[in-house]
Amino acid sequence: MRKDPLILNVDDDDGARYVKTRVLQVAGFEVIEAATGGDALEMVARAAPDLVLLDVKLPDINGLEVCRRIKSDPSTASILVLQTSAALIHRTDRVRALDGGADNYLVAPIEAEELVANVNAMLRLRRVQGELLESEERFRQLAENIDDVFWMFAPLERRLLYVSPAFELLWGRPSDTVRSDIDSWIAFVHEQERGRVREAFGRLAETGVYDEEFRIVLPDNSVRWVRDRAFQVKNTAPGRERIARVTSDISARKAAEKLRHDADSRKDEFLATLAHELRNPLGPIRSAVDLLRIAGGDAGQTQERARDMISRQVDHLVRLVDDLLDISRISQGKITLQPKNVALASLVSSALETASPFITAREHQLNVLLPEQDVWVYGDAVRLSQVLGNLLHNAAKYTPKGGTITLNAAVCRDELMITVKDTGIGITLDAIDGIFDLFAQGAVAPDRAQDGLGVGLSLVKKLVQLHNGRVYAYSAGPGTGSTFSVCLPLAHATPAPGAAPGPASAAAPGAARKQRVLVVDDNPDAVEMMQMLLDASGYETASAYDAPSALERARAYRPDTILLDIGLPGMSGYDAARALRAIPEVAGAVMIALTGYGQARDRELALEAGFDHHLVKPVSMAALLPLLEEVRAADSSTSP
Ligand code: ADP
Repeated sequence: MRKDPLILNVDDDDGARYVKTRVLQVAGFEVIEAATGGDALEMVARAAPDLVLLDVKLPDINGLEVCRRIKSDPSTASILVLQTSAALIHRTDRVRALDGGADNYLVAPIEAEELVANVNAMLRLRRVQGELLESEERFRQLAENIDDVFWMFAPLERRLLYVSPAFELLWGRPSDTVRSDIDSWIAFVHEQERGRVREAFGRLAETGVYDEEFRIVLPDNSVRWVRDRAFQVKNTAPGRERIARVTSDISARKAAEKLRHDADSRKDEFLATLAHELRNPLGPIRSAVDLLRIAGGDAGQTQERARDMISRQVDHLVRLVDDLLDISRISQGKITLQPKNVALASLVSSALETASPFITAREHQLNVLLPEQDVWVYGDAVRLSQVLGNLLHNAAKYTPKGGTITLNAAVCRDELMITVKDTGIGITLDAIDGIFDLFAQGAVAPDRAQDGLGVGLSLVKKLVQLHNGRVYAYSAGPGTGSTFSVCLPLAHATPAPGAAPGPASAAAPGAARKQRVLVVDDNPDAVEMMQMLLDASGYETASAYDAPSALERARAYRPDTILLDIGLPGMSGYDAARALRAIPEVAGAVMIALTGYGQARDRELALEAGFDHHLVKPVSMAALLPLLEEVRAADSSTSP
């Protein structure tokens, strides 16, 4: 690195040039020399001196022109030029020289000290300028690379000196908006905060403080939270006061605060509900105990009623506490399922065991529609009946007395779908989204029998999820009733006889010979899907894709039931049915026609052709299974 500043001394007069070089060298500068304008330009480009001491009079190119060329080339423009000339030069030359870009001008005779002092002053100025530029550059980089908006105002002139590019992102508008009108940013502050912010910003000059949080409304009407601070810049000269301002996006922090606040208020609400719920049963219990005391030895009805009441209320308390414990165990991942193959019928009956008394007390009518055949799921029997019990309990609770509750179960593909539908108060669209959240509670039924903790549905969802199932809530709105559906995967294999306890186990499909179903359809996907559904429901299946192969297959397979699509290629389904009926091995089979049309005429044609039943596609398992079940029932009643 060069230690001393390098000076290029340009003069065609050897004597004068020599003297100046010596003076500068003695003063500690490194000096190189040129005698013509051409040489000077070439050395400027090559050696990049800090300063050129340039005489005006040169043999080839005029010194003023040399200076102009140095200053007009961007790569050399920053080199200092000290123009010198012979005595008695005209004042206008001096002006021309400075206009041409020279940084200073000296007229001969030049004293040694004068020359050195001038060179030093120019170099010092350049150094300070350089440092200033560098610090400005650092500031600019900082201001332009942070997400915060940085502003600098000249308050006395009401001028915005600088605003960083982040303004455009934060305010969602071009920064020209505030450059042309420095107060225009206020118009985009949310109207609820605009007055306060305007006033606080206006007081800044007098108080010296401004620190506000507010919302900015973006052109698309979305909202962004910011913290906006401003302060007077210290150490500025009088009359040149500056105000610096920083605006930061705090939307993320505000969102987190809101979540925390919501959670806090949900927790407070929950604690209030919990206290209320725990206290509710205690009143009757205390009265019952008093009653027992008064009744003394009277062993009659009073005592029995008091005991019943205590037992009911204690059951209720236990239920509440159990729900709470379950939720906390699930949240901590401590709950373990004890899964096995469970029959739907046994789940339903144990759920009804707990829910029925309450349903009856509320005078509801209860309909239970289960598939005729046994359906099995793989899961924890206790937990799954808890799920159904909770849904039935809610249905009874949120339906004014005398309503109707329907529990419906159907097999759909490889899932079991259980639906609990009521005619109660319904659920608003707003409430439905968060209904499975912990502590979520919606509207209260006019005669709501009993309050709860807002834990039940959250428990339902978590338990169903633990079983790889899903649960949905549906309501067309307040007053229109609600429907809750639980989908659970079906058990993969038909359980071995005796694998699952419960009322349905005696009728498990494995106990009897499996019914054989022949599925005939020219759409292989439809056939495959139907076979899967039937397999899952405990039937044995075979398939054929056209009439001739159906006839052949039927002869060999001897199905109990034939599902025959009417729209087969080649031979119509009706003709195929007649041909099938003529085969002795199939004569006793139940034949079900599947058609795309539901007209009465199709039905007649089907029955005429020898079909026993007629179903319209797409066929729901809920419609098909009862027909298949009839076959099974007939079969088992005739078997020994
Ligand atoms: P709880 O019944 O203890 O309040 P849940 O978690 O069981 O708590 O239910 C949460 C909320 O969902 C209830 O407060 C109620 O507003 C709504 N809800 C649940 N089931 C029904 C239903 N069958 N009909 C209408 N609203 C219901």
